[in-house]
Amino acid sequence: MIKKIDHIAIAVQNLESALETFRNILGCAPEAVRIEEVASEKVRVAFITVGESKIELLEPLSDESQIAKFLAKNGDGMHHIALETDDIDNETKRLVSLNINPLGLPKEGAGGKKIVFLHPKETNRVLFEFAQKKH
Ligand code: ZN
Repeated sequence: MIKKIDHIAIAVQNLESALETFRNILGCAPEAVRIEEVASEKVRVAFITVGESKIELLEPLSDESQIAKFLAKNGDGMHHIALETDDIDNETKRLVSLNINPLGLPKEGAGGKKIVFLHPKETNRVLFEFAQKKH
């Protein structure tokens, strides 16, 4: 089952300067921000808690990162919408049965969550991430 929008992710060239902008927009306290590196994706990530959801800022750590490629093509901007599910394997099966295909198998993402992306060609060009909290 889909529980909520877990986060909305924005690709940025410079995490520090984007973080300042987003903290100003949201008027949030420093403790609302958590920064981590996701080596497997070659990105540095800042999560800003906004009520029940988060905004995720994604900065590439290498030109090989998918985020670097996205930025080269589009510049800074909206990258994906993440939905929280309590059963990623079941949701993936449900989507495949509807001809909506995941990009690969579920893998470990930021915060140790199990994540999978859906092909934007089949989702009105919105990149969706499904995320399941680690138990
Ligand atoms: Zn994400």
